[in-house]
Amino acid sequence: MMKNKSEYLKTRKDEAIAKQILSADDYAFYESLFLFQEKQQGLFAFKNVPGYIDPDGFPAIRTDQLEIPADHGPALLAALDELCGIITARHPGFNTGPYRAHAVGSEKSIESLARTFLEGEIDAIASIAGDIRTGIDEFVFMTANWFSPYFSALRAAVFGGRDTSEWNGTVCPFCGQYPSMAKIIEAKENKRVLRCSFCDEEWVFQRIGCALCGNDDIKKLGYYEFESSPYRFDYCSACGGYIKTFRLARKTAEGSVNLAVENILTNFLDSSAIAMGYKAR
Ligand SMILES: [Zn+2]
Ligand SMILES: [Zn+2]
Repeated sequence: MMKNKSEYLKTRKDEAIAKQILSADDYAFYESLFLFQEKQQGLFAFKNVPGYIDPDGFPAIRTDQLEIPADHGPALLAALDELCGIITARHPGFNTGPYRAHAVGSEKSIESLARTFLEGEIDAIASIAGDIRTGIDEFVFMTANWFSPYFSALRAAVFGGRDTSEWNGTVCPFCGQYPSMAKIIEAKENKRVLRCSFCDEEWVFQRIGCALCGNDDIKKLGYYEFESSPYRFDYCSACGGYIKTFRLARKTAEGSVNLAVENILTNFLDSSAIAMGYKAR
């Protein structure tokens, strides 16, 4: 049985703090963030499959047709308030007011924020972030964490049983976001699985190939392993990108590792990759 994020984080607490991977304050922040997400996921019910879900194709969410029903608005705004509280507890100087004011600006504001995030057009994101005088990274962080439980619950409700074996794309077959991390499962012939942090979907990807651009020229692919650890990052000189990878040893049960948590515990991998000139998606 897969441990949820907050439970898995707890199992990594002592090591993460002892090795200064997370400060005590950061640990408390992520713990409250994961508990928030887990609680929120239980609050949304989807009785019918929304019309914007493609029943056959991938990614299943058709962002241009996205609709958030009006009756989900109050719960989403309550979630936003809780999220703002968690963020300002960690960063007291950060003013979440303008974001909230934007979110309640019109009847369609919530839907429009979700669509802008999902479409990922940097100019559109920069434009809203500029309007509310927030940095792009902060805007993306808030929007991702606000909507993640909603779309994770939707995925579980309407996409859980979908066969994705035909999908070998570099984006999530449900929501279309780029993967945050990969894992290689030794016990399953080194099967490679990509993870979407936004909706919690995982999908199988080809063993040899860049998970960012799809390049499969092995002369342009490589990886750096971190001594006596399950971590590495795979890089691609065709696109200059990298993705962090967790290698699950044969004896490790697949469900015993939560990649969403490993993603925040492996900032050192990002630092190394970036120092070597590679860029994240
Ligand atoms: Zn996804
Ligand atoms: Zn690439």
